[in-house]
Amino acid sequence: MPEFRLRPWISCYNMPELPEVETIRRELSPLLVGKQIAKVKVLWPKTVVPLTSKQFSTKLRGQQIVSVTRRAKILIIKLSGPWSLVFHLKMTGQLIYQPTIGGTDNLPNQFTRLVITFTDASQLFFNDLRKFGWARLVLDEHLALLTNPYGPEPLSAKFTAHFLQELFLRYPNRTVKQILMDQSLIAGLGNIYADEACFLAGVLPIRQAKTLNRPQTEKLHQAIVAVLKLSIKKKGTSTRNYVRSSGRPGGFVAHLKVYGQAKAPCKVCQTPIIKIKHLGRGTHYCPRCQQ
Ligand SMILES: [Zn+2]
Repeated sequence: MPEFRLRPWISCYNMPELPEVETIRRELSPLLVGKQIAKVKVLWPKTVVPLTSKQFSTKLRGQQIVSVTRRAKILIIKLSGPWSLVFHLKMTGQLIYQPTIGGTDNLPNQFTRLVITFTDASQLFFNDLRKFGWARLVLDEHLALLTNPYGPEPLSAKFTAHFLQELFLRYPNRTVKQILMDQSLIAGLGNIYADEACFLAGVLPIRQAKTLNRPQTEKLHQAIVAVLKLSIKKKGTSTRNYVRSSGRPGGFVAHLKVYGQAKAPCKVCQTPIIKIKHLGRGTHYCPRCQQ
């Protein structure tokens, strides 16, 4: 089972964020585009609501994969019919591709919710331990309803230092972390990359937005872009549940500076990293490097 092939580096779940979903997208795209779906097996019917397992399987059968794209943390597989197959991995979802039936990962396993078999006998498994993830068939004309509520992509031209400054002016009393993690303001940032970007910028995540001056905001903007780009390059952060589409872990764990490092010495100043609860989420920072 892929999860247990990973070393338990860090004892908390990491929800897939932008770099993890983007890694899966980049890996799946060349593997899936052009393939035709032969068979779909739904092992946990709630994964595909509002459709029934039978409706879902029937609509997918015979469909060809046209493209694999991403918006925020949502993976969008465009089909030859007027639909897209959309996945949200939520907390513990995994999409694992196997080129042949009966590969080395012993899939399906007890956490497999959905199996898609292609006409060349390759398979895509959707595993989800906590069962919060979902797969939906969305009509092309409804896709915008699903993706419009999200703020701009942080790696797009729309996300500028000026844009971040405007957000901080609009919500002066919110904390920096609260703004960074609000999906309607910026898409795809979660707990790991909000904490890591704040460390890189030397900014306390629990500071109120109005207390940041322009250079600090600019530094934070640069840090967000840098941390996301590096993580995509390293194929994401694997702690307990995220694995790449091949079932292998991502390599960003070695680059984490504060996330999951509570009590460990800061990599810059040796002061123990502090972990607090902020907005119900574990929040990590260096009390000396971050102000
Ligand atoms: Zn430090």
